[in-house]
Amino acid sequence: MCSSDLLGKKFSMAVIRPEDHSLIYCAMPYVIEGILPLEKTFKKDSLVTESGAELIRGKAVEAGFENKSVLLEDETRIGWDRLVVATGAEPLVPPLKGVDFPNVGVFKSEGDLRSRIDHISSGMKRAVVVGAGAIGIELASALAGKGVETHLVERENRVLGATMDEDMTSKLHHEVAKEGVFLYLGKAVEEIRGSGGAEEVLLSGGETLSLSEPDACFADVAPGAVIFAVGMRASVDLFKNGPLALGRDGIIVNGKMETSLPGVYAVGDCVQFSSALTGNPIPGKLATNAVPMAKVPAANLCGENRSYGGFYNGAATKIGDLYAGGSGITAAFAEKNGIPTISGVASLTTAFPIMSNAKEITLKLVASKETGRIIGGQIVGGEPVTDKVDVLSTMLRSQWTAEDVLDFSYSSQPWQSFFPADNLFVAAAEKLSASI
Ligand SMILES: Cc1cc2nc3c(=O)[nH]c(=O)nc-3n(C[C@H](O)[C@H](O)[C@H](O)COP(=O)(O)OP(=O)(O)OC[C@H]3O[C@@H](n4cnc5c(N)ncnc54)[C@H](O)[C@@H]3O)c2cc1C
Repeated sequence: MCSSDLLGKKFSMAVIRPEDHSLIYCAMPYVIEGILPLEKTFKKDSLVTESGAELIRGKAVEAGFENKSVLLEDETRIGWDRLVVATGAEPLVPPLKGVDFPNVGVFKSEGDLRSRIDHISSGMKRAVVVGAGAIGIELASALAGKGVETHLVERENRVLGATMDEDMTSKLHHEVAKEGVFLYLGKAVEEIRGSGGAEEVLLSGGETLSLSEPDACFADVAPGAVIFAVGMRASVDLFKNGPLALGRDGIIVNGKMETSLPGVYAVGDCVQFSSALTGNPIPGKLATNAVPMAKVPAANLCGENRSYGGFYNGAATKIGDLYAGGSGITAAFAEKNGIPTISGVASLTTAFPIMSNAKEITLKLVASKETGRIIGGQIVGGEPVTDKVDVLSTMLRSQWTAEDVLDFSYSSQPWQSFFPADNLFVAAAEKLSASI
């Protein structure tokens, strides 16, 4: 197989990056929480240079599709035979009154992270985090862990709405509260009010959340912050009004990550891609999608013939003592998109129940009512769930039906699984089959 090392030896490559450091975004909340120093989130530049590529610090201001040369902000031009666009995505900020106040922000860049840390050090007392997806929850928990009174506002009736159905989230809501975070479900932010800075957040229904400190003794403390974590939009401004075909959710590519222009590829958060299950465009701004996408043109430039099959969107998070994750689509999403579903939910323990480390774990399997094919699953438990999420993604990819899951071949050991008499996937499939 072609590795990036080989690619670097085969071609003259340059990677253009504006930031001082490329960040491990997934770890950012843990810097806020004080578990990791900021520097631990910096990816090593040698990841690029050891592959034989040159790392050029700069921002592209023109892709130069006509003359095959990228123009940088400092007016340097870099010629190319093949161009890979990997400009990522930017956090969305809804167009609401008050979002321009200086203490309203997002959470993606090193600058965002540093300003949150500084804000906490300067005595921030209150924060409103908008959006209870994984980023919003992890950030809210981290802020609460630092003693900031944190309010988490979510428009849907549940947290992790892209991954979880409502019936799987009550324990998660409880866990968010246990973390010391005030959760507002089914509420949208309508306006941010203040003069010179955000002072209060108006929610649908008329409730307001104050960011200022009511106690006169704290009158000089830094005002609180409003942080939006409501999703990402592809960073494609550079290509607007140009020849590159763009969709609603990013650059349009085929399975080989080829764009509408010859010799130009696009990968990662900047592209629009489809669900491997429905074939329709679906959001999938995850590192676990970006990496396999990027490997496709790399391999093909080395003479292979690979293509990317679409998003399953396997993802996970941790809330307090609980781990939660899922893959595929939820029953709520399926129903909304005209796919009737059947579901089965089972709860077992992560080890033999007689063992001291046994923790409860619950799995929901969602299948198409018409075909019986598994189209999604959700897991909440007291131990990490990513391995089970990956089993789910494999089942989805292999187009397993509920009947196939009934025959799932599993292993069992007292510290690591339920009794041999049962298995989480099989138990959920039995429930699902019983509902047919
Ligand atoms: C807080 C947070 C937590 C996350 N947690 C997870 C997680 O747990 N699991 C998971 O799978 N995913 C997670 N993600 C998502 C994941 O980080 C992204 O999906 C992934 O980084 C996408 O990779 P990318 O290379 O496409 O884009 P990015 O990593 O965003 O990289 C894009 C790069 O392009 C550069 N760029 C943009 N425009 C230009 C230009 N004009 N010129 C030059 N350079 C440019 C940017 O500056 C940036 O360096 C998280 C994201 C965030 C923000």
